[in-house]
Amino acid sequence: MERVYLDNAATTVVRPEVVEAMQIAFTKAFGNCSSMYEEGEYAKSLLENARATVASVLNADPKEIYFTSCGSESDNWALKGAALKYGNKKKKIIVSSIEHHAILHTCDSLAKQGFEIVKLRVDENGIVDMEQLKNELDDNTLIVSVMLANNEIGTIEPVKEIAALCREKKILCHTDAVQAVGSIPVDVKDLGVDMLSLSGHKLNAPKGIGAFYLRKGVVISNFMDGGGQERGKRAGTENLPYILGLAKAMELASAEMDNNIKKITSMRDELISAIEKEIPYCRLNGHRTQRLPGNVNFSFNFIEGESMLLLLNDKGFACSTGSACASGSLDPSHVLLAIGLPHEIAHGSVRISIGKFNTREEVMSIVPALKEIVQRLRDMSPIYEDFIKGREMQQGTCARCNDDDNCNIK
Ligand code: PLP
Repeated sequence: MERVYLDNAATTVVRPEVVEAMQIAFTKAFGNCSSMYEEGEYAKSLLENARATVASVLNADPKEIYFTSCGSESDNWALKGAALKYGNKKKKIIVSSIEHHAILHTCDSLAKQGFEIVKLRVDENGIVDMEQLKNELDDNTLIVSVMLANNEIGTIEPVKEIAALCREKKILCHTDAVQAVGSIPVDVKDLGVDMLSLSGHKLNAPKGIGAFYLRKGVVISNFMDGGGQERGKRAGTENLPYILGLAKAMELASAEMDNNIKKITSMRDELISAIEKEIPYCRLNGHRTQRLPGNVNFSFNFIEGESMLLLLNDKGFACSTGSACASGSLDPSHVLLAIGLPHEIAHGSVRISIGKFNTREEVMSIVPALKEIVQRLRDMSPIYEDFIKGREMQQGTCARCNDDDNCNIK
């Protein structure tokens, strides 16, 4: 059976051009970037070219880019680096309630060290409450961290406005752009943030490589102590193969961005319309337009997301019930609860995330599969049966097909 991979928000395939760009660091450029002889200097020159590429895609200066091991490390560095540097003077950390666990669990650990964590409310589309933010910003505020795009529901946050407010009050501003970089244009100067996190494996580079943008003039504590790599701020011998892969992936994503946004957004919108037309009692989660091009997230009443996922897998489809990092837990997603979904509806959610290598045929082929699975699961659900009976008694019409003359269910 042909597999259809529709979980590109969890991770992406490494593209061949990226694998090719990495090869040189396994063979010719194997030297240590810190070594002061030809092999080292050659490796170092590739490292600095990669840094310049990453910087240029983000409209940053190469001196503002630090390579890390992943998006989680960059997120940890932003919050813990700020806390370690200024925590004796300022104690309040403001984040959104729908951040990734890389931010939320970092906040939990900082809370244990005496920091006050404020989690901003979001509206039913997942947009952060700007009034609450304005009211919370004060002299005790150390840092604000709001993600550029949410990993579960795809909502794009007003980070530019948030950064402007922070700048006015001289408060540090970080954004987790792990889901955004590679999918939508990200310009650090235009956003006006002090720090930004990104991760390679969300944009067709390998897992285990990330980057951190730290605006010139902004000082936070080092994350990893040791050798003098990354201008002394993030020790550890540089992972040159993966750094070259990240730079290549970012270069390609940037060159292809306009086309990909058009192509992927049109598949997304066609899929959303088809699901809404074909499957009753469902709800699109996240903002309808202010969302990542490839993100589709639906809740289907009366069923469990986990069961849908397993049956979709049997039919050849890979998708997710929420964040990949949250799977394995039976709690409903904190993001879906934050946008106001009741527990039972949050449990019946599926995230379909379209990537640049998906075709329209692949994407649309999930609709009949989903329709059949949803109906099969609903047919086994006593809650659905009660609901249908109730509707029929109320309306005198079949709620499943809305067609009294030809109904064979009633
Ligand atoms: N932030 C967001 C929004 C993410 O979606 C993820 C990964 O799912 C991360 C951070 C963590 O990135 P990494 O897997 O590179 O540690």
